[in-house]
Amino acid sequence: MSGLPEVAALALSGRALITGIFGDPVEHSLSPAMHNAAYAALGADRVYVPFHVLPDQLTSAVRAITALGILGVNITVPHKERAARLIARLSREAELLGAVNCIVNRSSSLYGDNTDARGLELALRELKVTIGGRRVVIIIGAGGGAAAAVLACKRLGARRIVIANRTRRRASALARRFAKPRIEVRGLDALLDRALLGNAALIINATSAGLSAGGFPALDYSSTPADCVFYDLLYARAPGAFLKPALELNRTTADGALMLLHQGVLAFELFNRLTAPADVMRKALFERLGRALG
Ligand code: NDP
Repeated sequence: MSGLPEVAALALSGRALITGIFGDPVEHSLSPAMHNAAYAALGADRVYVPFHVLPDQLTSAVRAITALGILGVNITVPHKERAARLIARLSREAELLGAVNCIVNRSSSLYGDNTDARGLELALRELKVTIGGRRVVIIIGAGGGAAAAVLACKRLGARRIVIANRTRRRASALARRFAKPRIEVRGLDALLDRALLGNAALIINATSAGLSAGGFPALDYSSTPADCVFYDLLYARAPGAFLKPALELNRTTADGALMLLHQGVLAFELFNRLTAPADVMRKALFERLGRALG
């Protein structure tokens, strides 16, 4: 034995197939851990690679998918909406959301899909969140993640949805994508509107505020009902700035780990046309996050 440290061997052959993720930043992503654990469990000659793609390189990176024979890539912040404009063939869901989180390479033809809404819907169902009736769902943010949240909440029967975003114009554009129920558009002042908050069943953070420097926008947590659920699309080892005050008030909270898991399982099956070992992916993700399997 040499003195070299032991490395978990990725037994890739010269024919290994590549999948991956394009993002900026990308190093925080736990998708590689989930997908590579799935390949290892299946004994597949495949690998999932994180690619740090800057905004001005997105077009070249997308072109490289076919040039390099990459099977498929996830698309993450901040590229989802631009990627949807770069791909000619989109699923109906990606078209509706105006955002792509998966680009699939089928015989050198690219296809854009979006598994975020289905992922979030499955996560909220697993958490047994109920949002029917007259209570309001408040979605903070108006990017691709927020679009997925609107669709997931509609599918779960939400009858009143408010989108609160820093840039109102962007929130209005998102609201116009959806038919019934009519979506109300607000600025971040909505997060201090006691009457609105007092009627909230679910508040979803779909901003990337936690990724950059600076805190989360002011939110009057104490005005929310005791059974209001706080869901953060962001995931991390510890609760972020959006969830912490809710936890201090004993509100039910969850972060984006379950959404990540479910969208990842769906993406794995799109890229590989194999049944995903979902339990393996869950275990890999939860291990990385330092939490017990639920
Ligand atoms: P986008 O870049 O498309 O949108 C970002 C949103 O955040 C915009 O609405 C933007 O507002 C808002 N925002 C950014 N910084 C601030 C700030 N400092 N204060 C207030 N608002 C701010 O990102 P996505 O929609 O793709 O992703 C949003 C978040 O959701 C990310 O954290 C992402 O990681 C997470 N996500 C998690 C998933 C999961 O599987 N768990 C899946 C999808 C997303 P404005 O319009 O004014 O710029």
